[in-house]
Amino acid sequence: MKVLIVYAHPEPRSLNSALRDVAVHELEAQGHEVQVSDLYAMKWKSEISRTDFPLLDEQTRLHVSNASKVGFNANALTKDVRAEQEKLLWADTLILQFPLWWFTMPAILKGWVDRVYSCGFAHGIGDHSDKRWGDRYGEGRFEGKRAMLVVTAGGWEEHYSRRGINGPIDDLLFPINHGILFYPGYTVLPSFVAYKTDRLDEAGFSTLETQLRERMQTIETISPIPYRRQNFGDYLIPTMQLRPDLESPDAVGFSIHQG
Ligand code: FAD
Repeated sequence: MKVLIVYAHPEPRSLNSALRDVAVHELEAQGHEVQVSDLYAMKWKSEISRTDFPLLDEQTRLHVSNASKVGFNANALTKDVRAEQEKLLWADTLILQFPLWWFTMPAILKGWVDRVYSCGFAHGIGDHSDKRWGDRYGEGRFEGKRAMLVVTAGGWEEHYSRRGINGPIDDLLFPINHGILFYPGYTVLPSFVAYKTDRLDEAGFSTLETQLRERMQTIETISPIPYRRQNFGDYLIPTMQLRPDLESPDAVGFSIHQG
């Protein structure tokens, strides 16, 4: 397999850096090819802006989706964005690795998504009709590829349990797993989450290392999160609501989008 790790941590001596190395070594030991996009080391530009669209003349109002689509179709996006898109096409598995900062990914990684997921590349593709609503949520550019998150959190596992004060971790990660990975077609694997990482000692690291190695060994075989695909009958078109007979009418929340 070809694995791309998009990695976001500013410190080369961090726990995240050590875990990234564990993942790379284990994947390579299994015979996989690995590339890493180390966003801080690359000095990745995180904010989307006018300079991302060299074809746009100074007088024209910036409409980000349009400019993104025009730039993508003309192969005229910036070199850094095109290089990341090439890596995504190369990889059959994508790993996003990051420390949980304010309950989500660091800004630099969000900016990677904003800039690399161009219109026409990762979204805005496919036909709309009374049977389909574009190629998304289970279909799209990355259909057939696998993806997962590797996340470290300062909070305890209990704090992220169903009744934990931070909210369930699956809910917090839903916008990334469902909105960023499943949306453009990835098959999404369960996330690897390390808790209570701020006070980790050698023994704790050793346990974590073993758990991460084991997860990397099952990356080809582990069952994905069973998200419901959009264009296969579970949702009403065009309202995109789950069919009333599929869950009880009182059922709400992210979990109804799993079959
Ligand atoms: P580091 O700080 O590099 O290391 C953590 C511990 O691991 C240290 O004790 C270190 O000694 C040890 N360690 C590192 N490498 C090794 C090694 N090779 N062997 C043995 N031990 C090692 N947490 C939440 O739960 N929710 C949040 O919303 C949240 N928001 C945050 C927002 C910000 C801006 C920041 C800075 C932190 C936030 N945190 C939050 C905490 C954050 O998630 C953790 O600090 C982070 O995940 C720890 O990962 P790290 O790589 O930065 O760890």
